[in-house]
Amino acid sequence: MINPFDDTYFMKKALQEAEMAFEKGEIPVGAVVVVEDRIIARTHNLTELLNDVTAHAEMQAITSAANFLGGKYLAKCTLYVTLEPCQMCAGALYWSQVAKIVYGAADHQRGFKTMGTQLHPKTEVVGGILANEAAALMKRFFIEKRNLN
Ligand SMILES: [Zn+2]
Repeated sequence: MINPFDDTYFMKKALQEAEMAFEKGEIPVGAVVVVEDRIIARTHNLTELLNDVTAHAEMQAITSAANFLGGKYLAKCTLYVTLEPCQMCAGALYWSQVAKIVYGAADHQRGFKTMGTQLHPKTEVVGGILANEAAALMKRFFIEKRNLN
């Protein structure tokens, strides 16, 4: 039997969160945290609403998942995020000891890979899941924003 709960399935959920960010005028990045095929946190970027440059989707996902679990480590969790994490988020994810990070589109300017940020040695990383969808959403956001100004 095929397991319907694959990386693509959960990335679609993260993309739904990114769409919600888009509708609020936030840079459209979404994230979900999964434990044993169950979503325990759904978040999206809220830097505009909260007036907080640290309010990236991943930062909130870490807090939300830890609250749900009642413990600060996410060692059994997989984080799905539509865009490659930045340096700040990769640093926070290091401290969370997250088991796996799955991201969509690469960020060649601010992504942790370009910045050379180290993840936790136990953290597995998979990139490029629904990357085109995530990148298209970002592109649409910045085109619309430009047209408004
Ligand atoms: Zn970030």
